[in-house]
Amino acid sequence: MALRELKVCLLGDTGVGKSSIVWRFVEDSFDPNINPTIGASFMTKTVQYQNELHKFLIWDTAGQERLHCFFPLQFRALAPMYYRGSAAAIIVYDITKEETFSTLKNWVRELRQHGPPSIVVAIAGNKCDLTDVREVMERDAKDYADSIHAIFVETSAKNAININELFIEISRRIPSTD
Ligand code: GDP
Repeated sequence: MALRELKVCLLGDTGVGKSSIVWRFVEDSFDPNINPTIGASFMTKTVQYQNELHKFLIWDTAGQERLHCFFPLQFRALAPMYYRGSAAAIIVYDITKEETFSTLKNWVRELRQHGPPSIVVAIAGNKCDLTDVREVMERDAKDYADSIHAIFVETSAKNAININELFIEISRRIPSTD
């Protein structure tokens, strides 16, 4: 069976749930007290989909963005190791925090300027289990994602909503190299 290796990096503000998304995808579990400093920095998971094995090599900023008090100048210094060779980037915001959606546009700009030119971009509106305190409308986020040709999905790492689907959709969008 054919094996595809896909490097995926996660970007987004601190606290939006990047490590939790990776943890849910790789371990199928959720730890509300996930330790930011030992959060996933590099993890892999292989899934079978349509007669192919898809090995995801996942890079998470693992709290390192916490060292940087102002975006984006400082971020630029640490970015390349996450971007390099990445086939896709998942940019995460928190549906209950409007400011994490606003800064998402900076992350997209940053990626477009400094990331690989053909990188597949996915936007994940995480914590969709918390709709009663929602600040970002799904429609607005979807419209924005469409405008930049990005994949869009609302996720919940806590309740395992759309996490596997997100990675499969990413894999579907990445062109085969053979
Ligand atoms: P990171 O800094 O972006 O890696 O975010 P973390 O994965 O450390 O998560 C930050 C906080 O949000 C933690 O307290 C998580 O338990 C919580 N969290 C993450 N994902 C979800 C989710 O889908 N729903 C809810 N309700 N909380 C979440």
